[in-house]
This record gives sequence, C-alpha cells and structure tokens, in this order.
Amino acid sequence: MSSNPSTLVHTRSHALQQRAERFFPGGVNSPVRAFRAVGGAPPFIDRAEGAYLVDADGNRYIDYFGSWGPMILGHAFPPAVEAIERTARHSASFGASTAAEADLAERIVACYPALQKMRFVSSGTEATMSAIRLARAATGRKRIIKFEGCYHGHADGLLVKAGSGVATFGIPGSAGVPEEIAQLTMALPYNDLAAVEAAFDAHPGEIAAIILEPVVGNAGCIPPAPGYHEGLRALTRREGALLIVDEVMTGFRVALGGAVERYGLDPDLVTLGKIVGGGLPVGVFGGKALFMDLLAPLGPVYQAGTLSGNPLAMAAGLATVSYLQDHAAEIYPRIEATAKAVTEGVAAEAARAGIPLTLNRVGAMWTWFFTPDPVRNYDEAAKSDTVAFGRFHHAMLEQGVWLPPSQFEAAFLGTTHGPDEVEKTITAARAAFRS
Ligand SMILES: *Cc1c(COP(=O)(O)O)cnc(C)c1O
Repeated sequence: MSSNPSTLVHTRSHALQQRAERFFPGGVNSPVRAFRAVGGAPPFIDRAEGAYLVDADGNRYIDYFGSWGPMILGHAFPPAVEAIERTARHSASFGASTAAEADLAERIVACYPALQKMRFVSSGTEATMSAIRLARAATGRKRIIKFEGCYHGHADGLLVKAGSGVATFGIPGSAGVPEEIAQLTMALPYNDLAAVEAAFDAHPGEIAAIILEPVVGNAGCIPPAPGYHEGLRALTRREGALLIVDEVMTGFRVALGGAVERYGLDPDLVTLGKIVGGGLPVGVFGGKALFMDLLAPLGPVYQAGTLSGNPLAMAAGLATVSYLQDHAAEIYPRIEATAKAVTEGVAAEAARAGIPLTLNRVGAMWTWFFTPDPVRNYDEAAKSDTVAFGRFHHAMLEQGVWLPPSQFEAAFLGTTHGPDEVEKTITAARAAFRS
C-alpha cells in the first residue's frame, strides 16, 4: 500500500464517466454517486467480492459503504448468488404470488415481531411513501412530522429538510414539490422532544404521524438521546398519531431486529429496505394489523407494484435474512467489535495528528465528523468541515479505502471485514491525516 496519495490510475473510470454523462444527468442514476461533495471523478465498479470493490482500472478498495447499507454479508455472498441463479432459471417474474414471499415474510417476522402484517415493495422510497398514506388514512389527518437531516426516500412530502444527497448538496427540499404538499410536512430538530410537543400543541388533531430514522444515518450517524424514542412514543400515543420507524438503513444493521430490538421500541408501522433485499431491490412496510388491513384489497388504501415480491429479490432477501437470523448471536457482536476497532483506531490517528474529529457509532454504522463538537442533530452535523472531509475521503480512496462520499452519510462494514482490513484502514488514515 502506498502512503503517497494520487498514485492510482483512473483512466478507464474517467472515460466511463464522460460516456455516462451523455446519457444520465451528472452521469449517474442516483445523485450521491457523482462524488460532487468530495470532488474528483467517481471510480466505476467492475466487480466486488467480500469486503473489496474492484474498479474499471483494476484498483482494489476496502468497501465502507456496502452499496449504501445492504451488503452486510459481503459482496457476492455465495448463498445469495446461488439462490438468485437457481431462481432465475425458473423465470425472473410472474406477476402472481409465489411461496418465496411468505418464506421471507416468516423470517422477517421472526426478527421483527412488530410486523404483524407487511407488504413488499421495490424500494425504501415506496415503503415510506406507502406508510405515510396508510397513517393518513388511519387517522383522517394530513400533517406529518419528520426530522431535519432524516432521509426517507424521494417522495414529494418527505424531501423537506431531508438528509443524504439533499443535505450533501445543500438543497432545502426539492424543486418540483408543490408548496401545498411541502406545507403538510413539519421538519423538526432531532433529539428535541420539546419541539415535537410544541408542534402537536400548534396543530391539535391534525398530525397523522411522526416518521423518524431511529438512529439517523442520512445526516451522518446520529444516535438517539436517552429517552427520545420513549418520548416520541408517549406523545404520539397521547395525540392519536402513528409512530413510523423508518428502518430502511438500521433494519438488520444495528441489531437483527434493527433499532426496534436494540432500543425496545413499540412502533405502529415499520419500513425496511436495503439489507432485507440482500442487494436486490426490496422494500417492506408493515406493522399493526389494524392499520395494514386498511390496504387494498381488504380496505380503501390503494398501493400496488408490478414487480413487488419479485422472485429474484425474494431469493436474495431470503438467503441474506436467513443467514443473519441463523448466525445473529455470532455476527452482530463481531461486526460491532470490528467497527469499534476501526472507528476508534482512525479517531486515535486523528487525535495524534491534532485533527478535531467527533466519532458517532451505533453497532456497525458510524460517521467521523470533522468537528470538535458533539453531533446530536442536523445543525450540529452541518458545522463539520466538509472541505477537510473531502480531502480525507480523497486521500483514503487513493490508498484503497472507499468511504461514503459525503460527510453526511453513514459508513458501514460487515462480516467480511476483519483485522486485516482494520489495520490497513488505520494505516491509510495515519497517512491521510499527515498529508
Ligand atoms: C435509503 C433510505 C431510504 C430510501 O430507500 P431507497 O431504496 O433508496 O428508495 C429511506 N429511508 C432511509 C432511512 C434510508 O436510509
């Protein structure tokens, strides 16, 4: 490994990016992939295995974003690959029900007893959008509360003060969202129960639901303050609003049963995505049967999907969730220990180099914020030195360590990261902080 940044060749990636820009706005099919926040052209991926990505120029990287969360068992996880291959031979889609849907649902309920009923969709965006519709139908109310810096996909009503790419690019919401729709979303500071109480007081009987990331990942990693979840549950119960816990990122990540298990939550509705599809497009929304049975064909709330419960996606999800469930007692403590070692090792290198860094970590998700101060909400995350983060990102990438390309995105690792990767990463950070 080189300690001299800018030694990697990126010729083919540069050419591929230029070609992609002819077809796709910014050359990408999802904005954060464009690396605008950290500068430089994004490497194009050729293939990946375990904890490693290989780009179009043959450079190898330790992967710390895992396809933005799903690849907790490493890339090309053999049981998932086999399941997909086996399933594909019998056709990729039927548009009619298969046993695999209930097979995966059975596994999910075993990890998430809160999902008395559920429905599969094809993305996290669809899951949260549908959960909100259900909450509005169940309560007959229009307004929703979300939190600044939380990202719940790109549906109209959920982009107000959103995290992820919206935060990365400093966009307050999105053009093209009618004001009438944006007005129904109240965006409040995270970890601030008084703000939630005030919102309920200002709009009595009008708030259908609170939706939150139970551990924020999309403003960088921000843990819930002690008592925060319980406070939200008590307020929603008192006010007759639903509590929607968006576990698209944290589900099967911060524990087998996600934040619901880790923090002992009692949500009305839960949304899942990312890991639950094992790298294929799967989203889930589910929760109390009383609410879920409002969905068509049983009830008046319409929601549908041509490829929902797609056989290939179910196969990959089933292989992934089954493995996680069967090995949870070994996997979750191990990935947490690996994450602790790498995050604290890098933070110690920063301290040694005199670089102020605040480390937030929950299980195997984390962020190194380039700020000396605690980060408990979006405003505090936004104080980070994003230029310093960009330099760090670039220096790490050039040494074969691929971090999420924004200060406002959580990093992840999984079961295929071991002591070797930890050591290489800490060594790379040492060089990065001194360059
Ligand atoms: C990624 C994410 C979404 C959106 O999921 P997509 O599959 O990208 O539509 C929603 N909520 C959270 C918390 C996420 O991290």
